[in-house]
Amino acid sequence: MYGNFQQYLQEEIQKIKDAGLYKNERILVSPQGAKIKINTGQEVLNFCANNYLGLSNNKELIDAAKKALDSHGYGMSSVRFICGTTDLHKILEQKIAEFFGTEDTILYAACFDANGGVFEPLFNEQDAIISDALNHASIIDGVRLCKAVRYRYNNADMNDLEQKLIEAQAQRFRIIVTDGVFSMDGNVAPMDKIIELAEKYQALVMVDESHSAGVVGKTGRGVTELYNCRGKVDIITGTLGKAFGGAIGGFTTGRKEIIDMLRQRSRPYLFSNSLPPMVVAAGIKMFDMMASTNVLQEKLHANVNYFMNKIQQAGFDIKPTQSAIVAVMLYDAKLSQDFAAELLNEGIYVIGFYYPVVPQGLARIRVQLSAAHEFEHIDQCVEAFTKVGKKLGVLKN
Ligand SMILES: *Cc1c(COP(=O)(O)O)cnc(C)c1O
Repeated sequence: MYGNFQQYLQEEIQKIKDAGLYKNERILVSPQGAKIKINTGQEVLNFCANNYLGLSNNKELIDAAKKALDSHGYGMSSVRFICGTTDLHKILEQKIAEFFGTEDTILYAACFDANGGVFEPLFNEQDAIISDALNHASIIDGVRLCKAVRYRYNNADMNDLEQKLIEAQAQRFRIIVTDGVFSMDGNVAPMDKIIELAEKYQALVMVDESHSAGVVGKTGRGVTELYNCRGKVDIITGTLGKAFGGAIGGFTTGRKEIIDMLRQRSRPYLFSNSLPPMVVAAGIKMFDMMASTNVLQEKLHANVNYFMNKIQQAGFDIKPTQSAIVAVMLYDAKLSQDFAAELLNEGIYVIGFYYPVVPQGLARIRVQLSAAHEFEHIDQCVEAFTKVGKKLGVLKN
């Protein structure tokens, strides 16, 4: 049987390659950080990790993880409700709730699972899910698993959202769902207006803080801090795999009864393994750090401002950002790929994105800043951008 199927796959893969969309993986041989080593032996400055707070290789987190290996062992070999819950899991859930100012938290193996398991237990065909068009793939998949009526509004477009809310009055319950930060432009969801509309049209609100938690807001509490609406959002999902240490793990935090119901009915929670104690212990350490100081957020925000000023002074167009993601616009797809390749030769690792990941004609290099970067790293990055920009005719002078 495999023969025909093999041929089919080979042809499909070739089509992906012909379209220039085949993804090759670069192989790191060092820990994640501002400076990384790849298997060609080249050392490069990394501007494409979600390592926003520079915690991926943090000594305190590593020590906490090592200690938990000794105290709680390596793996749980169980789902949470059978024998996969330790004291550490309960502490971490509490710390996450304290961080976001919510009532309770449920942990998942990843935020992909948190989003995959949040809708189906709570809503059915009588209800409506009203989702931003640029929401993360895991939200889209989670919505697909639920029988609720689906509405989609244009990215951060409050007129369109209002229109969809009016239509959704036909349903029993309504929930507005949005990413906190959108990963291609780095823009944030206008939570103040979303909450206003939710109150006007009787809707619940869910925000995925994966790219915003730890990053956005004065103390990194995410978009609910930025828009001063802590306590007004019913469901927050997020990841431990980005700013919060970068290992693995996801969570849903929010109203008590919602979390309670998810523990009873959420399939990725009920039927998938519990997070390993070392990851949980490092997570606890991480939230303790977050509670005691904002130095990493302050450094990150300073780095974002420094980069934005420098790259604009150098003559590049950027998208207005409210996060640690800066889209340096090149508009042309091939140029974005050539540009990224040239930057790698200059020791700067970034990724060029083009259609269909971003709209036609809006190809760009996405730069992600980190608290692990020093100003001198950013200087090197902007110098490389300038050199390549001149070479490829992006910068005229
Ligand atoms: C990265 C991301 C996820 C997935 O998080 P994992 O924990 O890696 O599964 C979900 N939602 C958004 C908005 C993300 O950016």
